[in-house]
Amino acid sequence: MDNAGFSEKPQNRSSSSGEDIPEALRDTPDAAAKKVSIRPLFLIIGGVVGVVLIAVVSGFLFFVVTPKKTKDSQSPPASSTPATPSKSGNSATSKDNTVLGHFVYSEAPESELQPISNDRRIKMRKAAAQKFLEMAAAARSAGVVLVPVSGFRSIKEQEQLFFAVGAQRNQTPAQRAAVSAPPGHSEHHTGYAVDVGDGGVPATNLTTNFEKTKAYQWLQANAARFSFEISFPKDNPQGVSYEPWHWRFVGDRDSLETFYKARNLKPAQISQQEESGSGAR
Ligand SMILES: [Zn+2]
Repeated sequence: MDNAGFSEKPQNRSSSSGEDIPEALRDTPDAAAKKVSIRPLFLIIGGVVGVVLIAVVSGFLFFVVTPKKTKDSQSPPASSTPATPSKSGNSATSKDNTVLGHFVYSEAPESELQPISNDRRIKMRKAAAQKFLEMAAAARSAGVVLVPVSGFRSIKEQEQLFFAVGAQRNQTPAQRAAVSAPPGHSEHHTGYAVDVGDGGVPATNLTTNFEKTKAYQWLQANAARFSFEISFPKDNPQGVSYEPWHWRFVGDRDSLETFYKARNLKPAQISQQEESGSGAR
């Protein structure tokens, strides 16, 4: 844009003032005018080019020199930045989402539930229910009677178990939480957890004595084949008291993610309290 202005000026001059001047004379002022007008043009172009060159070169140098720095200094924070928040996020979730050592769980939709007991009152989520029935059938053929004692539980039912039973037993929330999950925090809400009893020795139902039963021995040896695992083994990292009767299904993506996703299982040492008839988890 500046170029046009500069190139027009000399042209105008040569055409208007150059006509009356004899050729011999005309050349000099013309050339002088050209020289004069071209110089600033060159200066400006040169200046602009110089500035651009400097900018480009320094930019290139900056680019060449600094990437190493930024890579070294940026990538560790870049990798540690997501790691730190996710770490703190995890601990935050485990801290924020746990109540007295228990994770938050959402209720399985009613439509997803299927009965697993003869009276049809105990239910699990379909995938888990089918595997549980398969497992019970396999156990029975080995002479072991697996009896479902408790399956899906609504948050309301858990509320009753936690508060009313806790009050009945004169338990503080912390004492209660050692043997029962607070409402909204029971694996039973998910429809993937089941409390199993031994049909041969119902007296051991929901007690640690269950570990002495044939049912427990059989489960220990075979449950994994049906995608069941014990949720609260002895000295579990969650710090929840030992529950040999409480098993959970982890045989599909949803169940697996329900129990394992974004969970930073850090031991929160809660003193182990044993109590009979505490199958409220
Ligand atoms: Zn349970």
